[in-house]
Amino acid sequence: MRADPIQRAIDEDLVRVLYAQDPIAFFSHWFSIAVLVAIYWPHVPSPPLFIACFGFYAAANCAGLALWICNRRYPQLVSPRDWIYLHALRGVLLYSGPGFAIWFAFQSPQTDLPLLHTVMLVTLAAGVFMSNGFDLLNFSTSIPFLLLPSIVLHFGSHTFDRTILAIVLAFFFCAINVYAMSYRKLFRQVVQARVDQQYLAESLAAQKHVAEEASLAKTRFFAAASHDLRQPLHAIGLLAASLNDPAATPAQHVKTAGHIVYNVEALNQLFNQVLDLARIESGVTQVIRLHFRLSELFERVGSQYRPQAAAKGLALRIAPTSLVVYDDPVLLERVLSNLLSNSVRYTEEGAIWLGLRHAGRSKGGFIEVRDSGIGIAPEEHEQIFEEFYQVANPQRDARQGHGLGLPTVKRLVALLGGELQLRSAPGRGSVFRFQVQAGDPGGIVASLNDSVAGGPAAQGRYVLCIDDDPSILEGLSTLLARWGCNVRGARDENEALTALEGGFAPDAVLCDYQLANHRTGAQALTAVRGALARAGRGNVVTLLITGDMASAELASLALQGIPVLHKPVTPARLRRTLEMLWQQAELDRGRPAGAPALRDDALVGGVDSGALQTLQTLQMQALQKDAAASTVATGGAATKSSPPRATH
Ligand code: ADP
Repeated sequence: MRADPIQRAIDEDLVRVLYAQDPIAFFSHWFSIAVLVAIYWPHVPSPPLFIACFGFYAAANCAGLALWICNRRYPQLVSPRDWIYLHALRGVLLYSGPGFAIWFAFQSPQTDLPLLHTVMLVTLAAGVFMSNGFDLLNFSTSIPFLLLPSIVLHFGSHTFDRTILAIVLAFFFCAINVYAMSYRKLFRQVVQARVDQQYLAESLAAQKHVAEEASLAKTRFFAAASHDLRQPLHAIGLLAASLNDPAATPAQHVKTAGHIVYNVEALNQLFNQVLDLARIESGVTQVIRLHFRLSELFERVGSQYRPQAAAKGLALRIAPTSLVVYDDPVLLERVLSNLLSNSVRYTEEGAIWLGLRHAGRSKGGFIEVRDSGIGIAPEEHEQIFEEFYQVANPQRDARQGHGLGLPTVKRLVALLGGELQLRSAPGRGSVFRFQVQAGDPGGIVASLNDSVAGGPAAQGRYVLCIDDDPSILEGLSTLLARWGCNVRGARDENEALTALEGGFAPDAVLCDYQLANHRTGAQALTAVRGALARAGRGNVVTLLITGDMASAELASLALQGIPVLHKPVTPARLRRTLEMLWQQAELDRGRPAGAPALRDDALVGGVDSGALQTLQTLQMQALQKDAAASTVATGGAATKSSPPRATH
């Protein structure tokens, strides 16, 4: 993978170094031409041959100079490799001139001329080693032309000292080649180190850029979140202050209280949306796939949005489909709800269409939500998937949403293994679509629209609450007592254990996650569950309430099957959750060990509704069926056929 960039970097460096030496070579060659001509001319046996040879040498030197100028002026004219080839060709031409010219020395009556010429050739060879030694091609096309004619002629003279000189020259020829080899290796290592350093610097710069972008995105996220959170808080503050006004009538107080509740609800909804996103981001949200009829899911979400669409005079059309899909109905419902709610919000006339397109696929297809609304400009197609981004809500009016729907949808679709696609243009409506897998009709456990019996009532239940904050403990106890529960409060696990030892037998244990003295709710619940198990009451409902998002301990709670509620918890959600857990505990009595616990997604988030409970129950039933059919592990551990549930 890395060979090509390194080879290219080596080539580029080679070109730079090879051509950088050329001006020196140019002058030394003119010098040698001048010296050789001056020495040989008086004794030349064959002037035309001499002129041809030295003319060729001079011409080659000029060609070398032209090549150098060309390289300096137009470095991009050919590739680095081609510049290397051209330089090698120049080497052949340039060094064959002085190399073959030694023949004239052997023709001369002056016996010391061959020796003189040889000294000059060795000097030139040393220059070639220095300037071309780090490239095999340039080196091997220069040195042989320079030295081999001389070695051959010295051998051919059959005198003792010339033969010795030929041997020395041959040795020099071999040695210079060996040195050039290690020279090349060293050069390659230097270039490789430089390239590695360059890569490192580039990747560090890229990582820095990503980190800066992430930090900017985070800043934008917090700026928008804090603005949207402050708005209702500000309103609540003002409204609460006006409750103290002695001049206000009871009717005005009731109205103000209504506004406060409305703003608290708005705040809660926003928190839930942020929480949903954070849960998906932190990888806590689990996908639990079922085989189910897509038409049933379409009908469920369709029926939720039909009244809103009708109120705006829009037709909500659902295309019939017989496809059975294998997907997570709870997450899929959340995706479709978000998309349909946007379609209704951003369409003023025409229709909204929800359906499946096979798009040439024999199995599965694309779920499409299409509307004839205001559409989205192409330059906004990426930004609308950023948190808190809204196309046309500069005053950030909370009634127009918060810009969290599409980021959530995109992440959920990715979590389900698909990719959210968008086709839209201003005034031409929008199409959101993503792929779904076909399921097996034989794998359907029950209809998504089967109704589920309401959970067992809270009346008369015994509840143990553990929280180190006295005001929360007080609030929780008052609330539960209002529902008819018998409540015992404990500030820590010791007080809770003392209550159990004193004979308090709870139907449910509610525990805060962060307790005093660096203890966690997980530790307290483990101790309490242990005590309950020893007392033969292993199926007591336990529920952890946390403001934490992604601690490792929350993940381990998932394995223990402890459900988690995220703050802020509304009374309605707490009650619904407790009722669901009591209902599940009743189901559990006839369930094998290790069967899955309740899915956390049904417990948190702004969309938990009766519909989700229905789906949740179906999922539980399906997984119970799986668990019963397979060998299950004991002690609540998850098995291959019954994956750990989405509790934290
Ligand atoms: P919200 O709808 O709460 O503002 P979203 O994240 O769901 O937040 O959408 C982000 C932006 O994308 C919206 O403000 C809106 O401008 C645009 N948008 C989303 N869905 C549609 C749609 N179906 N038609 C036109 N614009 C849309």
